[in-house]
Amino acid sequence: MGAGILETYREFLPVTDATPLITMGEGNTPLVKSNRLGKELGCDELYFKLEGCNPTGSFKDRGMVVAIAKALEDGSRAVMCASTGNTSASAAAYGAYCDLPVLVLIPKGEVAMGKLAQAMAYGARILMINGNFDSALALARAYTCKHSVTLVNSVNPHRLEGQKTGAFEIIESLGDAPDYLFIPVGNAGNITAYWRGFLEYQRAGRSLRLPKMMGFQAEGAAPIVRGAPVANPQTIASAIRIGNPASWQGAVDARDSSGGTIDMVSDDEILDAYRMIASKEGIFCEPASAASFAGLVKMCRQGLNLEGQRVVCIFTGNGLKDPDLAVRSVVSQTTEIEPTLEAVEAASLATAS
Ligand SMILES: *Cc1c(COP(=O)(O)O)cnc(C)c1O
Repeated sequence: MGAGILETYREFLPVTDATPLITMGEGNTPLVKSNRLGKELGCDELYFKLEGCNPTGSFKDRGMVVAIAKALEDGSRAVMCASTGNTSASAAAYGAYCDLPVLVLIPKGEVAMGKLAQAMAYGARILMINGNFDSALALARAYTCKHSVTLVNSVNPHRLEGQKTGAFEIIESLGDAPDYLFIPVGNAGNITAYWRGFLEYQRAGRSLRLPKMMGFQAEGAAPIVRGAPVANPQTIASAIRIGNPASWQGAVDARDSSGGTIDMVSDDEILDAYRMIASKEGIFCEPASAASFAGLVKMCRQGLNLEGQRVVCIFTGNGLKDPDLAVRSVVSQTTEIEPTLEAVEAASLATAS
Protein backbone atom coordinates (compact mmCIF):
# COMPACT_ATOMS: atom_id res chain seq x y z
CA MET A 1 0.00 0.00 0.00
CA GLY A 2 1.17 3.52 0.66
CA ALA A 3 -0.42 4.57 -2.64
CA GLY A 4 -2.18 7.39 -0.80
CA ILE A 5 -5.88 7.99 -0.53
CA LEU A 6 -6.38 9.82 -3.85
CA GLU A 7 -5.28 6.80 -5.86
CA THR A 8 -6.63 4.12 -3.52
CA TYR A 9 -10.12 5.60 -3.24
CA ARG A 10 -10.33 7.64 -6.44
CA GLU A 11 -13.77 6.26 -7.41
CA PHE A 12 -15.19 7.62 -4.13
CA LEU A 13 -13.39 10.98 -4.30
CA PRO A 14 -13.77 14.08 -6.49
CA VAL A 15 -10.86 12.93 -8.67
CA THR A 16 -10.87 13.85 -12.36
CA ASP A 17 -8.28 13.20 -15.09
CA ALA A 18 -6.86 16.62 -14.24
CA THR A 19 -6.43 15.96 -10.50
CA PRO A 20 -2.79 15.46 -9.53
CA LEU A 21 -2.59 12.21 -7.53
CA ILE A 22 -0.23 13.60 -4.92
CA THR A 23 0.57 11.65 -1.77
CA MET A 24 2.81 11.96 1.25
CA GLY A 25 1.76 8.48 2.42
CA GLU A 26 -1.43 9.50 4.22
CA GLY A 27 -4.08 6.95 5.16
CA ASN A 28 -3.75 3.18 5.63
CA THR A 29 -3.28 3.78 9.36
CA PRO A 30 -3.21 0.87 11.85
CA LEU A 31 -6.36 -0.43 13.51
CA VAL A 32 -4.97 -1.91 16.72
CA LYS A 33 -6.91 -4.32 18.92
CA SER A 34 -7.00 -3.36 22.58
CA ASN A 35 -5.07 -5.72 24.80
CA ARG A 36 -6.09 -4.48 28.26
CA LEU A 37 -8.61 -1.64 28.36
CA GLY A 38 -11.30 -3.49 26.42
CA LYS A 39 -11.27 -6.34 28.96
CA GLU A 40 -11.60 -3.85 31.82
CA LEU A 41 -14.72 -2.44 30.15
CA GLY A 42 -16.25 -5.83 29.34
CA CYS A 43 -15.69 -5.38 25.62
CA ASP A 44 -13.77 -8.17 23.88
CA GLU A 45 -13.59 -6.40 20.55
CA LEU A 46 -12.27 -2.91 21.10
CA TYR A 47 -10.07 -1.33 18.42
CA PHE A 48 -8.11 1.89 18.18
CA LYS A 49 -7.61 3.66 14.84
CA LEU A 50 -4.22 5.34 15.05
CA GLU A 51 -4.60 8.49 13.01
CA GLY A 52 -1.46 9.86 14.64
CA CYS A 53 0.42 7.63 12.16
CA ASN A 54 -0.41 9.98 9.26
CA PRO A 55 2.48 12.00 7.73
CA THR A 56 2.00 15.07 9.95
CA GLY A 57 0.64 13.11 12.92
CA SER A 58 -3.11 13.64 12.61
CA PHE A 59 -6.12 12.66 10.49
CA LYS A 60 -6.12 16.13 8.95
CA ASP A 61 -3.78 14.79 6.23
CA ARG A 62 -6.59 12.68 4.72
CA GLY A 63 -8.64 15.78 3.95
CA MET A 64 -5.72 18.06 3.23
CA VAL A 65 -4.31 15.90 0.42
CA VAL A 66 -7.64 16.16 -1.42
CA ALA A 67 -8.05 19.89 -0.72
CA ILE A 68 -4.51 20.63 -1.93
CA ALA A 69 -4.84 18.40 -5.03
CA LYS A 70 -8.08 20.19 -5.99
CA ALA A 71 -6.50 23.60 -5.31
CA LEU A 72 -3.66 22.67 -7.70
CA GLU A 73 -6.14 21.37 -10.27
CA ASP A 74 -8.02 24.69 -10.07
CA GLY A 75 -4.81 26.68 -10.57
CA SER A 76 -4.76 28.11 -7.05
CA ARG A 77 -1.68 30.18 -6.17
CA ALA A 78 -1.95 30.02 -2.36
CA VAL A 79 -4.02 28.43 0.42
CA MET A 80 -5.18 29.65 3.83
CA CYS A 81 -6.58 28.04 6.96
CA ALA A 82 -7.52 28.89 10.51
CA SER A 83 -6.31 26.25 12.90
CA THR A 84 -6.08 24.94 16.44
CA GLY A 85 -2.79 23.47 15.19
CA ASN A 86 -3.18 20.27 13.22
CA THR A 87 -4.85 21.77 10.16
CA SER A 88 -2.04 24.30 9.87
CA ALA A 89 0.62 21.58 10.29
CA SER A 90 -1.02 19.53 7.55
CA ALA A 91 -1.63 22.46 5.17
CA ALA A 92 1.95 23.64 5.68
CA ALA A 93 3.39 20.19 4.88
CA TYR A 94 1.32 19.56 1.74
CA GLY A 95 1.94 23.15 0.65
CA ALA A 96 5.69 22.62 1.00
CA TYR A 97 5.43 19.32 -0.91
CA CYS A 98 3.53 21.01 -3.76
CA ASP A 99 5.31 24.37 -3.77
CA LEU A 100 2.09 26.17 -2.81
CA PRO A 101 2.36 29.08 -0.34
CA VAL A 102 0.40 28.52 2.90
CA LEU A 103 -1.03 31.20 5.21
CA VAL A 104 -2.23 30.08 8.62
CA LEU A 105 -4.28 32.00 11.18
CA ILE A 106 -3.83 30.63 14.67
CA PRO A 107 -5.19 31.78 18.02
CA LYS A 108 -2.24 33.20 19.93
CA GLY A 109 -1.08 31.11 22.86
CA GLU A 110 -3.60 28.31 22.19
CA VAL A 111 -1.68 26.03 19.85
CA ALA A 112 0.32 23.09 21.24
CA MET A 113 4.09 23.41 20.85
CA GLY A 114 4.59 20.45 18.49
CA LYS A 115 1.98 21.74 16.05
CA LEU A 116 3.40 25.24 16.01
CA ALA A 117 6.88 23.79 15.46
CA GLN A 118 5.57 21.86 12.45
CA ALA A 119 3.95 24.88 10.76
CA MET A 120 7.15 26.86 11.33
CA ALA A 121 9.45 24.09 10.04
CA TYR A 122 7.37 23.50 6.90
CA GLY A 123 7.67 27.20 6.17
CA ALA A 124 4.09 28.44 6.42
CA ARG A 125 3.40 32.15 6.88
CA ILE A 126 1.96 32.24 10.39
CA LEU A 127 -0.41 34.95 11.56
CA MET A 128 -1.07 34.81 15.30
CA ILE A 129 -4.29 36.51 16.14
CA ASN A 130 -5.48 37.86 19.45
CA GLY A 131 -8.63 35.81 19.45
CA ASN A 132 -9.89 32.24 19.56
CA PHE A 133 -10.29 29.62 16.82
CA ASP A 134 -13.82 30.67 15.93
CA SER A 135 -12.73 34.25 15.23
CA ALA A 136 -9.71 32.97 13.25
CA LEU A 137 -12.03 30.89 11.05
CA ALA A 138 -14.37 33.85 10.50
CA LEU A 139 -11.35 35.91 9.37
CA ALA A 140 -10.07 33.17 7.06
CA ARG A 141 -13.52 32.91 5.47
CA ALA A 142 -13.73 36.67 4.98
CA TYR A 143 -10.21 36.92 3.55
CA THR A 144 -10.59 34.05 1.08
CA CYS A 145 -13.93 35.45 -0.13
CA LYS A 146 -12.20 38.66 -1.04
CA HIS A 147 -8.85 37.39 -2.37
CA SER A 148 -7.97 34.56 -4.75
CA VAL A 149 -6.59 32.32 -2.03
CA THR A 150 -8.13 28.86 -1.43
CA LEU A 151 -9.62 28.17 2.01
CA VAL A 152 -8.58 24.69 3.20
CA ASN A 153 -10.53 24.49 6.46
CA SER A 154 -13.12 21.73 6.68
CA VAL A 155 -15.72 24.12 5.23
CA ASN A 156 -13.84 23.29 2.00
CA PRO A 157 -15.94 20.28 0.87
CA HIS A 158 -12.88 18.37 -0.39
CA ARG A 159 -11.58 18.06 3.18
CA LEU A 160 -14.53 15.95 4.36
CA GLU A 161 -14.37 13.86 1.20
CA GLY A 162 -10.82 12.85 2.07
CA GLN A 163 -11.57 12.31 5.75
CA LYS A 164 -14.35 9.80 5.02
CA THR A 165 -11.66 7.32 3.88
CA GLY A 166 -10.99 6.54 7.54
CA ALA A 167 -14.38 4.78 7.61
CA PHE A 168 -13.50 2.84 4.44
CA GLU A 169 -10.32 1.52 6.04
CA ILE A 170 -12.12 0.41 9.20
CA ILE A 171 -14.61 -1.58 7.11
CA GLU A 172 -11.77 -3.14 5.10
CA SER A 173 -9.94 -4.12 8.31
CA LEU A 174 -12.96 -5.59 10.11
CA GLY A 175 -14.89 -6.94 7.12
CA ASP A 176 -17.86 -4.74 8.06
CA ALA A 177 -18.64 -1.59 10.02
CA PRO A 178 -18.35 -1.84 13.84
CA ASP A 179 -21.35 -1.57 16.18
CA TYR A 180 -20.09 1.66 17.73
CA LEU A 181 -17.70 4.40 16.60
CA PHE A 182 -16.38 6.71 19.33
CA ILE A 183 -14.88 9.95 18.04
CA PRO A 184 -13.90 13.37 19.43
CA VAL A 185 -15.91 16.35 18.16
CA GLY A 186 -14.47 19.83 17.69
CA ASN A 187 -15.44 21.59 14.48
CA ALA A 188 -17.49 18.42 13.80
CA GLY A 189 -16.08 17.77 10.34
CA ASN A 190 -14.64 14.38 11.16
CA ILE A 191 -17.79 12.82 12.63
CA THR A 192 -19.66 14.14 9.58
CA ALA A 193 -17.05 12.65 7.24
CA TYR A 194 -16.95 9.23 8.95
CA TRP A 195 -20.73 8.91 8.80
CA ARG A 196 -20.64 9.75 5.10
CA GLY A 197 -17.93 7.12 4.58
CA PHE A 198 -19.94 4.42 6.34
CA LEU A 199 -23.06 5.30 4.30
CA GLU A 200 -21.18 5.30 0.99
CA TYR A 201 -19.51 1.95 1.55
CA GLN A 202 -22.83 0.41 2.54
CA ARG A 203 -24.50 1.84 -0.54
CA ALA A 204 -21.65 0.46 -2.67
CA GLY A 205 -22.26 -3.02 -1.20
CA ARG A 206 -18.93 -3.13 0.62
CA SER A 207 -20.52 -3.34 4.08
CA LEU A 208 -23.84 -4.40 5.55
CA ARG A 209 -24.08 -2.60 8.85
CA LEU A 210 -23.85 0.97 10.06
CA PRO A 211 -22.28 1.96 13.39
CA LYS A 212 -23.86 4.08 16.09
CA MET A 213 -21.93 7.35 15.97
CA MET A 214 -20.77 8.37 19.46
CA GLY A 215 -19.29 11.90 19.41
CA PHE A 216 -17.66 13.54 22.43
CA GLN A 217 -17.01 17.21 23.08
CA ALA A 218 -15.09 18.66 26.01
CA GLU A 219 -17.33 19.95 28.81
CA GLY A 220 -16.05 23.53 28.45
CA ALA A 221 -16.46 23.44 24.67
CA ALA A 222 -19.70 21.54 24.14
CA PRO A 223 -21.97 23.72 21.99
CA ILE A 224 -23.74 20.78 20.32
CA VAL A 225 -24.53 19.12 23.66
CA ARG A 226 -25.75 22.40 25.13
CA GLY A 227 -27.62 23.44 21.99
CA ALA A 228 -25.99 26.87 21.65
CA PRO A 229 -22.59 28.29 20.62
CA VAL A 230 -20.05 28.74 23.43
CA ALA A 231 -18.45 32.20 23.31
CA ASN A 232 -15.36 31.30 25.30
CA PRO A 233 -14.61 27.60 24.87
CA GLN A 234 -12.20 26.17 27.45
CA THR A 235 -10.50 22.77 27.65
CA ILE A 236 -6.97 21.36 27.89
CA ALA A 237 -7.76 19.48 24.65
CA SER A 238 -6.85 22.37 22.33
CA ALA A 239 -7.80 20.51 19.12
CA ILE A 240 -11.45 20.47 20.20
CA ARG A 241 -11.51 23.91 21.84
CA ILE A 242 -14.21 25.15 19.47
CA GLY A 243 -17.35 27.08 20.40
CA ASN A 244 -19.27 27.19 17.12
CA PRO A 245 -18.61 24.11 14.95
CA ALA A 246 -18.71 24.61 11.18
CA SER A 247 -20.22 21.13 10.63
CA TRP A 248 -22.74 21.33 13.48
CA GLN A 249 -25.63 20.06 11.34
CA GLY A 250 -23.57 17.21 9.92
CA ALA A 251 -22.79 16.00 13.42
CA VAL A 252 -26.43 16.16 14.47
CA ASP A 253 -27.46 14.24 11.33
CA ALA A 254 -24.81 11.57 12.00
CA ARG A 255 -26.04 11.20 15.56
CA ASP A 256 -29.73 11.05 14.69
CA SER A 257 -29.51 8.83 11.60
CA SER A 258 -27.24 6.35 13.34
CA GLY A 259 -29.08 6.20 16.66
CA GLY A 260 -25.93 7.42 18.39
CA THR A 261 -25.19 10.23 20.78
CA ILE A 262 -23.20 13.44 21.15
CA ASP A 263 -22.18 13.93 24.74
CA MET A 264 -19.39 15.60 26.68
CA VAL A 265 -16.49 14.62 28.95
CA SER A 266 -14.66 16.71 31.53
CA ASP A 267 -10.97 17.61 31.28
CA ASP A 268 -10.30 15.22 34.18
CA GLU A 269 -12.00 12.40 32.30
CA ILE A 270 -9.99 13.29 29.19
CA LEU A 271 -6.71 13.29 31.13
CA ASP A 272 -7.54 9.99 32.85
CA ALA A 273 -8.25 8.44 29.46
CA TYR A 274 -5.08 9.96 27.99
CA ARG A 275 -2.95 8.42 30.73
CA MET A 276 -4.70 5.04 30.57
CA ILE A 277 -4.33 4.73 26.79
CA ALA A 278 -0.60 5.40 27.07
CA SER A 279 0.20 3.37 30.20
CA LYS A 280 -2.10 0.38 29.51
CA GLU A 281 -2.02 0.13 25.72
CA GLY A 282 1.27 1.78 24.78
CA ILE A 283 -0.45 4.37 22.61
CA PHE A 284 0.49 8.00 23.04
CA CYS A 285 -2.31 10.12 21.58
CA GLU A 286 -3.32 13.75 21.90
CA PRO A 287 -5.60 14.85 24.74
CA ALA A 288 -8.33 15.67 22.18
CA SER A 289 -8.03 12.13 20.80
CA ALA A 290 -8.50 10.68 24.27
CA ALA A 291 -11.97 12.26 24.41
CA SER A 292 -13.18 9.30 22.31
CA PHE A 293 -12.05 6.74 24.88
CA ALA A 294 -13.13 8.98 27.77
CA GLY A 295 -16.58 8.91 26.19
CA LEU A 296 -16.52 5.12 26.03
CA VAL A 297 -15.58 4.91 29.72
CA LYS A 298 -18.39 7.33 30.60
CA MET A 299 -20.98 5.33 28.63
CA CYS A 300 -19.86 2.08 30.28
CA ARG A 301 -20.18 3.66 33.73
CA GLN A 302 -23.71 4.69 32.76
CA GLY A 303 -24.52 1.07 31.96
CA LEU A 304 -23.80 0.60 28.24
CA ASN A 305 -23.31 -3.14 27.76
CA LEU A 306 -20.62 -3.95 25.23
CA GLU A 307 -20.76 -7.72 25.42
CA GLY A 308 -20.46 -9.12 21.92
CA GLN A 309 -20.16 -5.61 20.47
CA ARG A 310 -17.44 -4.35 18.17
CA VAL A 311 -16.21 -0.91 19.14
CA VAL A 312 -13.75 1.44 17.42
CA CYS A 313 -12.24 4.55 19.02
CA ILE A 314 -10.63 7.10 16.70
CA PHE A 315 -7.34 8.39 18.10
CA THR A 316 -7.14 11.49 15.95
CA GLY A 317 -3.60 12.72 16.63
CA ASN A 318 -0.17 11.89 18.02
CA GLY A 319 0.71 12.61 21.66
CA LEU A 320 4.07 14.09 20.67
CA LYS A 321 2.20 17.14 19.42
CA ASP A 322 1.65 18.32 22.98
CA PRO A 323 4.63 17.15 25.07
CA ASP A 324 4.18 19.95 27.64
CA LEU A 325 0.88 18.52 28.72
CA ALA A 326 2.28 15.01 29.06
CA VAL A 327 5.11 16.21 31.26
CA ARG A 328 2.71 18.28 33.38
CA SER A 329 -0.04 15.73 33.74
CA VAL A 330 1.69 12.39 34.17
CA VAL A 331 3.15 11.36 37.51
CA SER A 332 6.61 10.38 36.40
CA GLN A 333 8.45 7.34 37.70
CA THR A 334 11.82 8.99 37.30
CA THR A 335 14.65 8.76 39.83
CA GLU A 336 18.00 10.50 39.66
CA ILE A 337 20.97 8.26 40.61
CA GLU A 338 24.78 8.10 40.62
CA PRO A 339 26.40 6.36 37.61
CA THR A 340 27.18 3.08 39.45
CA LEU A 341 25.84 -0.47 39.11
CA GLU A 342 24.95 -0.48 42.81
CA ALA A 343 22.81 2.61 42.39
CA VAL A 344 20.99 1.09 39.37
CA GLU A 345 20.39 -2.13 41.31
CA ALA A 346 19.11 -0.30 44.35
CA ALA A 347 16.78 1.87 42.30
CA SER A 348 15.51 -0.94 40.04
CA LEU A 349 14.59 -3.32 42.86
CA ALA A 350 11.34 -1.51 43.48
CA THR A 351 10.24 -1.96 39.83
CA ALA A 352 11.64 -5.40 39.01
CA SER A 353 10.65 -7.33 42.12
C1 LIG B 1 -9.13 18.51 14.29
C2 LIG B 1 -8.99 17.56 15.40
C3 LIG B 1 -10.09 17.06 16.12
C4 LIG B 1 -11.49 17.52 15.89
O1 LIG B 1 -12.00 17.15 14.64
P1 LIG B 1 -13.23 17.95 14.03
O2 LIG B 1 -13.34 17.46 12.65
O3 LIG B 1 -12.86 19.40 14.12
O4 LIG B 1 -14.42 17.64 14.88
C5 LIG B 1 -9.86 16.11 17.10
N1 LIG B 1 -8.62 15.69 17.39
C6 LIG B 1 -7.54 16.14 16.73
C7 LIG B 1 -6.21 15.63 17.10
C8 LIG B 1 -7.69 17.09 15.72
O5 LIG B 1 -6.60 17.55 15.09
